[in-house]
Amino acid sequence: MRNDYHPPVYQARSFTCPHCNAYSSMSWEALNSAQHPLKVTMRAICQGCERYSLWVPDIAGPFAALSINYVLAYPSVSTAPAAEADMPSDIKIDYEEARQIFSQSPRAAAALLRLCVQKLCQQLLGKEGAIHQQIGELVEKGLPSRVLKAFDTIRIFGNESVHPGTVNLNDTPEVALALFGLLNMAVRHCITEEKELEAIHALTPEAKRRDL
Ligand SMILES: [Zn+2]
Repeated sequence: MRNDYHPPVYQARSFTCPHCNAYSSMSWEALNSAQHPLKVTMRAICQGCERYSLWVPDIAGPFAALSINYVLAYPSVSTAPAAEADMPSDIKIDYEEARQIFSQSPRAAAALLRLCVQKLCQQLLGKEGAIHQQIGELVEKGLPSRVLKAFDTIRIFGNESVHPGTVNLNDTPEVALALFGLLNMAVRHCITEEKELEAIHALTPEAKRRDL
C-alpha cells in the first residue's frame, strides 16, 4: 500500500494530525541523540489529541543529503477516506479502526465497516436487531434505494463468511476501499441531510406546515 501522507515541513509547528485529523499545534522532540542527524527519530505530539507521531529521515528522498525531510513512520497511514463530520462518535471509532487496518487487511476493514452499518441502523431505528432485518425495516420507513444499495453492499462484503468463489477483498483492496465511501454517503444522507432539512423546516411558519 502506498503511503500517500504528505510529510509536513520538518519540525513544522502545526500540521494535520494523523490521529485526529485536526490541523493542530505540535511539539517536537528528538527521541535519540545519534551523532549522525540522519539517524534521529523525531516525535511530534499533537496538542489536540495528545497522541504522538514518529518521523524518520527520508533517506531515499531528494533532500536526504540535507536531512531536512522526514516521513511519517507511525501511525501507519491509511489511504481510506476520512470519516464524515456527522458520523456518530461510537461509529467513528470503528471506522477509524477500519482505516488503520485497511492496508494490512482490507477484509478486516470491511468487517468493521459492516459493524458500522449495523450500529448506524440501530441508531436510526432506536433499537437493536439483526442487520439484515434492520435494513429491511429502514426500507419500509422510506430509505431510498441508493442508500439501501450502500448498506447491503457493505453488509455482504463485510461478512466474514463470504463463500469461496466470491470476491476476496484482500486480493481486491479497491473494492474494500469503495466501501468506506459508501458508508460516508449513507451517513451524509441519513444524518447530515436530515439535520439540514430539520433546521430549515424549523424556520418555516408552523401554521403553514402539514401535520405529519
Ligand atoms: Zn491529534
